[in-house]
Amino acid sequence: MGKVSPRHPRAESLRVREQLVEGFKAGLVVPEGLAAHGRGEAFDYILGEQTTKQARRATEAAAAMLLLAKHPVISVNGNIAALVPAKIVELAKVANAKIEVNLFHGSARREAAIAKRLRRHGAKEVLGTERKFSTRIKEVHSDRRKIDRMGIGAADVVLVPLEDGDRTEALKRLGKRVIAIDLNPMSRTARKADVTMVDNIVRALPLLVKRAKRLSRGSKTNLREIIRSFDNKANLRATFRLMLNRLKK
Ligand code: ATP
Ligand code: MG
Repeated sequence: MGKVSPRHPRAESLRVREQLVEGFKAGLVVPEGLAAHGRGEAFDYILGEQTTKQARRATEAAAAMLLLAKHPVISVNGNIAALVPAKIVELAKVANAKIEVNLFHGSARREAAIAKRLRRHGAKEVLGTERKFSTRIKEVHSDRRKIDRMGIGAADVVLVPLEDGDRTEALKRLGKRVIAIDLNPMSRTARKADVTMVDNIVRALPLLVKRAKRLSRGSKTNLREIIRSFDNKANLRATFRLMLNRLKK
């Protein structure tokens, strides 16, 4: 760290890249994760690398949905563990959610490294690393078809920051409510999720924690009202229009 001058116009974006590269060297992140981040960056550039009004709305709905859930689970992959481990742990505490390591490119060693990093940031329990609780989602052709019976398997609401479209569709088929964080409003994940936060995880997670903390002090009626009045499709369309307008300028 420290190689990037704070005066560089892309200072924050470069700092995040460095963090991912460190995560790569530490065995948390795979090369494919670096490429996926690049795809995200391109969309973030168009958004002006800031949290939009639409993303704020989705974040509020996401917080409400997590707080109302009976068995909320936060799915964590390498990029998430590298970039926002403390926020994941904080969110799990506020929302009383379980944390599950769930990898597209799975290996026992990487799962263990990710779980260890989360524990170092205060996680009491990290699911997804024990073979005996492992079960499979049919029709998903990657290691990510594996889910923990005690975690995502039993969840009613799943937060999937950075998920692949196949898996999101499979989670929906299993009857889960899905909250996605994805900078690409056109991805299958973004379109299939019940709540889509089109925002960079490095901004989205801190904001989600803040919202969840504030809303947890209010009433359940208020939470239900937030979800009722949220329209994910309309919100995605508005985000897409915003991107088009920024490109036209
Ligand atoms: P899908 O499978 O949903 O159609 P995809 O194949 O384009 O999407 P994947 O590689 O499966 O993309 O998933 C990675 C997604 O994560 C991409 O859509 C990318 O925009 C998004 N992404 C990557 N890094 C970030 C980040 N830091 N914050 C938010 N989103 C990100
Ligand atoms: Mg994909």
